[in-house]
Amino acid sequence: MAVIDISGYAPNSITDGPGLRFGVFCQGCNHHCPGCHNPETHEFGIGTKVDVEDIYKMIKKDPIVRGVTFSGGEPFDQAEGFYHLAKLLKADGYELAAYSGYTYEQLTRSTEDYKYKLLSLLDILVDGPFVLAKRSLSAGFRGSTNQRVLNVPASLANGKATWEESARWQTLNTERE
Ligand code: SF4
Repeated sequence: MAVIDISGYAPNSITDGPGLRFGVFCQGCNHHCPGCHNPETHEFGIGTKVDVEDIYKMIKKDPIVRGVTFSGGEPFDQAEGFYHLAKLLKADGYELAAYSGYTYEQLTRSTEDYKYKLLSLLDILVDGPFVLAKRSLSAGFRGSTNQRVLNVPASLANGKATWEESARWQTLNTERE
C-alpha cells in the first residue's frame, strides 16, 4: 500500500473547511510562498512515513467527523499516496477537500497524472499559492484572495474552474478575483 510523508494531523479541525473535519498535513512543498504559515513543512522527506491504511483507520475512529481536508505542505506533490487515501475515504462518503499551491488549470494538464486522479476524487479544491500581499480577513477558508474555493465535480463537468457556491464554504468568502 502507498505511504504519505506526514507532518501532522488535526483530528477535530474547524479551520480547514466547514464542520468538524480531520486534517491530514503532509511534509514537503515546492512552492515556497513568501509568508507561508507552515514553513516547517517545506522540506521533503523529514516527516513520518505512514501507510494510507493506517491514516484511514485513524480518521474512521471518530464517527462524528464526516469531512477530511488534505493540506501541508503540498498534497499534490504526494498525489499517489493521497489518491489511495482519497479512494478509501470516498467509498465511505466523506466530503473531501484539499489545499494546493497548484492551480486547477495546472492540475488538469494531464489526465494520466496522479495529480489529476487525486483531483478527480475531491469535492472541494482550494487552489493557488498563498500571496502575502493578498492576505485578507474576508478570505474565508482561503489564505489570500487570489485563491479559489472550487467545486471539483462541477469544474470537471464544465471543463473550467467553477466556484463552490454553498453557504457552508462561502461564509466570509466575499473577496474574489
Ligand atoms: S503552497 Fe501552502 S504550504 Fe506550500 S509554501 Fe505555499 S502556503 Fe506554504
